[in-house]
This record gives sequence, structure tokens and C-alpha cells, in this order.
Amino acid sequence: MLCRFNSAYPPNIGCYTESRQPISPNRYLKPNCESTPQSEGFATDGLTRLALEIWAAPIHQTLHHCDNRDTTSHPARMPILEAQNLHKSYRQGKTTTNAVRGVSLTLNSGEILAFLGPNGAGKTTSIKMIAGLVRPDDGWVKLDGLDPHKQSRALKSIGAVLEGNRNLYWRLTPLENLEYFGVLRGLSRKVARQRGEEWLQRLGLVDKRNVTVQTLSRGMQQKVAIAVALIHRPKLLLLDEPTLGLDVEATQTVKTVVREIAASGCAILLTTHQLDIAEDLSDRVAIIRQGQVIAEQPTRELIRQFSGTSYNIELEEPPDAETLIRLEHLGATTKDNHIFIRGSEQLYDVLEKLRPLAIQEIKKDTADLTEVFLKLVQDA
Ligand code: ATP
Repeated sequence: MLCRFNSAYPPNIGCYTESRQPISPNRYLKPNCESTPQSEGFATDGLTRLALEIWAAPIHQTLHHCDNRDTTSHPARMPILEAQNLHKSYRQGKTTTNAVRGVSLTLNSGEILAFLGPNGAGKTTSIKMIAGLVRPDDGWVKLDGLDPHKQSRALKSIGAVLEGNRNLYWRLTPLENLEYFGVLRGLSRKVARQRGEEWLQRLGLVDKRNVTVQTLSRGMQQKVAIAVALIHRPKLLLLDEPTLGLDVEATQTVKTVVREIAASGCAILLTTHQLDIAEDLSDRVAIIRQGQVIAEQPTRELIRQFSGTSYNIELEEPPDAETLIRLEHLGATTKDNHIFIRGSEQLYDVLEKLRPLAIQEIKKDTADLTEVFLKLVQDA
């Protein structure tokens, strides 16, 4: 792990304890453990690499001052993330890629912002600039009021769960992972263990405290990964694809955990290609395309704007001929046991004419986030 960090990242970036000595999970917890980065499932693609970089960032100078406030006592909405007019271009030979072109984002405590975009839109580059890992060509970032590019203290505000269980050491137990990463983030071993125990309790994983992470279900691994990211009580959680590959039940559990974390005051920047999850979880949505934010609004408001005003009434039985004539007079159209109304004005008149027929369902023509996303991304 250390070799990897040292070879992959600049020399001033590495994993250090308070005494600045590099640590590894093997040496720290289990001297004879056979863990290797590969066997732990660490990967080096896109956002996972970003997670490793965030863990490895030089926060050791600042963690002594890390405040131990319980996030549950932090309900007031305050700006945690402010990013203004970020620009980043990559030059390779004669080719220049304008990866990010003027992205601005704000995120308050307790809020979940879904940051969505097609492949190559500039999400990872934006997040790297937010996390202080890539210096913007232009623009600025503030994390809880601090500039992550100038004040490394800002990095204590961030936790990251990127590609779920890959953020964990598979041959360590959940508690050992929590303790190890807690110490890595500057906590004393005692505090890390205590918080780890609390998290296991909170996540219903107490009975799994002594088994290795690799034997847990994917849903449980994801819950542990989230706890690990929050062990130092950051104010901003970067959460990538939290429910990818999980079954229905595990998805529900993880969604509940994410909502609870936001309710406790942590701001969450959610990236996912699962737009139903984004729709369910987010308070706001920012959609990025070709390096620019093309929409940024409260999720419900955005969906409402793209929703129609027509209604579909489904009856249990098709209406009789007399009712059909009355409905036509009102401008409604019918097909079998379905009645279609263009606007909301006639809805109650139609319902009156239908009395006393049994109604199965009344549905408004409502868009979902997938439709909104596709319209915006394709039309822009
Ligand atoms: P995905 O959803 O596929 O992960 P993304 O929205 O995260 O995509 P970025 O990874 O930010 O997109 O990439 C934005 C653009 O910048 C792409 O065209 C990408 O090829 C380019 N890019 C990203 N990193 C580099 C780099 N280090 N050097 C050169 N080009 C890069």
C-alpha cells in the first residue's frame, strides 16, 4: 500500500500517523496478516483512485485540532461546500481538453446534491478540484470556509465512499477497518475503536464485528465503507454509486443510512448513473455536460417543470355509452377503461360525470429524473 502511494503520488503525500511514520493495516493491526493491496480489492480506476488520494492527503498536520462534535448536534443549514467558476484544461501534446468550464456548486449541511452527467462530462475533475487534488486553472473552492488548495486543514472536512467496498481492507474485520482508518485520519486508537463500536451498533453490524469484511454481504460492506468514511466526522461526504450492485433490500438499507447521515447534518455530494437513486435521495440536482453545469435546481422542482399537466383515470370497468358521450362533451378521450384529460381544469367535472363508477387509479403525467436528464443532456 505504501509503495503504491509513494510511487503513485507526489512525495509530500502519504499515509502518516501523528508521529509522521507511515503505517499499514498489516503493521498496525495484525503483524502477520497477509493482506496486500490487490487482495483487499483496491482498484486504481477513476473515482476509486480519487478515494485513495483523499485518504492519503497530508492532513496529519491538522488532525490534532479535529473537532469531535457529534454531527447529530449540527442540524442548522450552513454552507459546507462553495465552488465558484472552476475551470480545468488538460494538455496532451497539441491536444487540449477543456474538462471543466466554469462549474459553480454550493452545498449546505444536511443537504444531498446529486451531481450527474454522462461519461466524460467533467464530474471527477470537478470533484478532484473540490477535494484539493487538482488545482483549478481558474475559480476557487471553499470547504467549510477553508481553501483546500491553500489550507490543508480543509481536508479534514471530507470523507469519501467511492466504489463502495473497495475502500476497505477485506481481510480485516469491520471494527479493525474502522479503527485503522480512524487512526489514519488522526484519531487516537481508543477514540477510533469507540466510534467504530458506535457505528457497528448504529448499522446493526455488532454481530459481524469479528468476521472479515470479505465474508460480509455487499450491502454490509457498503455500510462499513460509509462508516469508515465518516469515522473522523467530516462535514462533507463524497458518495459515488452507493447502491450499485446491491439487491433491493440492501439498496433500501443503504438509502436509509444515507438519509440519516444527511439528517444528522453532513452534506452529501452524490455521484451516480442510477438516476432513480439520485431522484430518491437528492434535495437538489446539478447536471453537468461537456464541462458546464446545464441545470441546477431542487430535484422536485426540476421534475415538476418537465412533467405534463394531463391525467389518466383508470376505471375498474369501461364506462357505459351514456357516460362516454358526457365525457366527450367535456373534451376527455377514452380508450377501454382509461380516460385521458389534457389539463387539470376538467378533472373534477369528469370525476363528477363518472360517479358512481369504481376508479382504479388517477395518475398525473409526471416525468422522472431519467427523462429530465436525457432531455437536458440531449437537447443542450
Ligand atoms: P465518467 O462518468 O466517465 O467518470 P467524468 O464526468 O468523471 O466521467 P472526467 O473524468 O472529469 O469526466 O473527464 C472529463 C474530460 O477530461 C474527459 O474528456 C477526460 O478524458 C478528460 N480528462 C480527465 N482527466 C484527464 C487527464 N488527467 N489528462 C487528460 N485528460 C483528462
